Amino acid sequence: MKKKEKETPQEEGIKAKKSLGQNFLNSDGALDAIIKAGRVTKGDKVLEIGPGKGALTKRLLETGANVVAVEKDDRLIPILEDLFAKEINTKKLTLIHGDVLKFDPSLYGLKAKEYKLIANIPYYITGEITRKFLSGNFQPSLIVVLVQKEVAERITTSTQGSVKIKEGKESILSISVKAYGQPKYIQTVKAGSFFPPPKVDSAILLIDNISKKNFENIFKEQKFFDVVKTGFAHKRKTLSSNLKRFTTKEKLSEFGINQKERAENITLEQWLEIARNT
Ligand code: SAM
Repeated sequence: MKKKEKETPQEEGIKAKKSLGQNFLNSDGALDAIIKAGRVTKGDKVLEIGPGKGALTKRLLETGANVVAVEKDDRLIPILEDLFAKEINTKKLTLIHGDVLKFDPSLYGLKAKEYKLIANIPYYITGEITRKFLSGNFQPSLIVVLVQKEVAERITTSTQGSVKIKEGKESILSISVKAYGQPKYIQTVKAGSFFPPPKVDSAILLIDNISKKNFENIFKEQKFFDVVKTGFAHKRKTLSSNLKRFTTKEKLSEFGINQKERAENITLEQWLEIARNT
């Protein structure tokens, strides 16, 4: 029989709150893979969202990284303070009791491109978190997060640059992430690796080389998303019909886009081309 390695959060007396997306990670293999995907080394600055009971925090600190961790659940704060008293004292860990969606990284020495975001995030705010940290003014250099498997699959679908590498459909989500960085599906994490287990399997997602190089200014960024959202607005319609108010069939064919093409088959480079030229 397999030896039991550690107590689960339930055994330690904290009942997981569904409303806060609490599924505590209980897998050494997954923790190793997260640290490896984030290339976490001594001296790195890391932002962790939702440290929970500290499973990932512990691993991050073991690498010698400096960690800023934001936790919303007040019940978990004394547990974390107790567990990491030494690291808090030596300022290796800064523990913040608060909501990550209201959190300003620059107030805690996390400057754009100079820190990594590494977390087992609460799934109910996956969209808000990715939007905030990809399009905000304080982008991390890379992101490693656990997300629902299906979300990771949708984000990492099909294209690399303008070249299709395998079949798969693009979505507003996948194009939005690719506009800022390079997403990579690292590995599946089975529901049973968490306590309590979520309804679906999860996956470790890396978003590497994050930047705003595709957007010269705010206006271009807004225009890009306006075009992408309009292009995806009516799923059954062709792209040229969805994009009537922005461009013509002739113009689209100049970008190598067939009259009958649908939004899901358009690459990031083609979307950028359309947004820049309409
Ligand atoms: N990191 C821990 C682990 O891997 O076991 C816990 C991960 S659990 C999926 C998500 C954590 O995010 C919980 O501890 C939860 O309380 C916290 N959380 C939920 N909403 C939050 C918010 N808006 N801001 C900060 N933390 C939040």
